[in-house]
Amino acid sequence: MLILGAGIAGLTAMYELEKAGYHCQILEARQRPGGRNWSARRGTSETSLDGTTQTCQFDPGLYMNVGPTRIPQHHTTIDYCRALKIPIHVFNNQNADAYYYFEEAGPLSNQRLRHRAVQADARGYISELLAKAVNQGALNQELSTSDKERLIDFLRTTGVLTAQNKYGENPDRGYRRGNEPVAGDRPGIIDAPYKLSDLFALNDKHTFNLGHWIAFEHEWDQAMPMFEPDGGMDRIPMALVNAITGPIHYGTEVTRIENTAHGVRVSYRDQHENTSQLEADYCICTIPPQILKRIPNNFPVQVQSDLAVPVPVNAGKMGLQFQRRFWELDDRIFGGISMTNMDITQILYPSHGYLEQKGALIGYYAFDIQADQLGALKPKEREQHAITQGSKIHGTVYRTAFESSFSNDWRKTRYSEGAWVDWPAHTQGPNSPYARLLQPVGQVYFAGDHLTYTIAWQHGAFEAARKVVMDLHKRVVAS
Ligand SMILES: Cc1cc2nc3c(=O)[nH]c(=O)nc-3n(C[C@H](O)[C@H](O)[C@H](O)COP(=O)(O)OP(=O)(O)OC[C@H]3O[C@@H](n4cnc5c(N)ncnc54)[C@H](O)[C@@H]3O)c2cc1C
Repeated sequence: MLILGAGIAGLTAMYELEKAGYHCQILEARQRPGGRNWSARRGTSETSLDGTTQTCQFDPGLYMNVGPTRIPQHHTTIDYCRALKIPIHVFNNQNADAYYYFEEAGPLSNQRLRHRAVQADARGYISELLAKAVNQGALNQELSTSDKERLIDFLRTTGVLTAQNKYGENPDRGYRRGNEPVAGDRPGIIDAPYKLSDLFALNDKHTFNLGHWIAFEHEWDQAMPMFEPDGGMDRIPMALVNAITGPIHYGTEVTRIENTAHGVRVSYRDQHENTSQLEADYCICTIPPQILKRIPNNFPVQVQSDLAVPVPVNAGKMGLQFQRRFWELDDRIFGGISMTNMDITQILYPSHGYLEQKGALIGYYAFDIQADQLGALKPKEREQHAITQGSKIHGTVYRTAFESSFSNDWRKTRYSEGAWVDWPAHTQGPNSPYARLLQPVGQVYFAGDHLTYTIAWQHGAFEAARKVVMDLHKRVVAS
């Protein structure tokens, strides 16, 4: 078996095929395994497609996950961590004390708002309004008398309403920083709720509006608990590499794929620019479609046009090392995400290394247009941009405690050319380009997260690999 690409899909295919007794080898263009599963630490060096080279200067022990960040508890990824004995810990995907920070979004603009205060107010006001509507008879058609009583009871509890169904000051909003309840005569100070109209003004005009961010925490694949491997996400490909025996040929870029009368022939160029060929009975190709579509082949025309359908989506991240974990010391934020409608989109606080002196957080995690705009800047310009915007949330310490950065633009990343793909409307159902690419072309099978309903998740890459391994094995057994 010849496998193209040593990302999660390619490595998993090899791992599973070897368990079933097949001889496999992998051709991988990069000098490392993992593909998009990539962690940067001191010495990591990358030259992007525009020729810019960055070398990570983080202190030993600090790292950033440039690609995958978190693993939902229900993903197959967790099962592979168990099988491969990869220790994991909780990744804080939400933190009630992290901030929202919006610009040009009404009276609450340009100030940091704790998640817990905003969420308590939104919940409280909606509960109050709904209770009012119920009591004014607006829902008499929908609700029986006992339904209404139970609903009011529910709203009082969930919205922290008074006996008169009014929302007001309450501890769910949190206490004013420095005025939390302590001993003696200090019960703590709670600020009054934000005004309802100011709160919902945060919803205006922006793609990532407040509703999006509140709902984010409840999404099927974003809800807590989530996990990450100890020491970096790239522990997963490293463990897969250790668990397989067949060769992985690094620095070998596939340049042609051909079905032959008896199998498959793949041409590749090695790091010394020498071109060679390998032949095999079958091939599993995990090269992302936006790259694969340019590789010469003898596939039917329909397959070639199907490979051109998925649209690459961009994402970009920057890791920032600070000499002091001010987010823990000053803000009492241990993990979680601050969200903003500035370009940086999010600041992700590390869910590891708590209480240590230094730390590296994700200073931006941007998508689509924002990612393209940040990616268009030189690394030093991105750094300044991220620090300027981050300082609006965290103040001058964001500049004074800063030490070094490492950033990546996935569209400009060689051998990826995108963070993941989108299938345009109507291209992923039955008889679609997606459905056709699930079928082998002669001896060649395609796999990768792009051929699943969980794109942008390692789970997709694992599951796609498992599917083609099963398809292939059934065919071999039947032949
Ligand atoms: C910014 C970002 C955030 C993400 N967040 C998460 C997350 O939080 N959780 C999660 O589970 N997943 C996340 N993902 C998704 C996850 O990284 C992918 O789903 C998964 O890694 C895809 O694996 P793959 O094997 O399908 O593809 P890839 O990793 O792209 O592997 C393809 C391989 O093919 C190689 N290749 C390309 N061209 C050639 C060639 N010509 N010749 C030979 N080899 C070639 C590449 O070098 C690569 O190794 C994220 C991804 C990104 C980019």
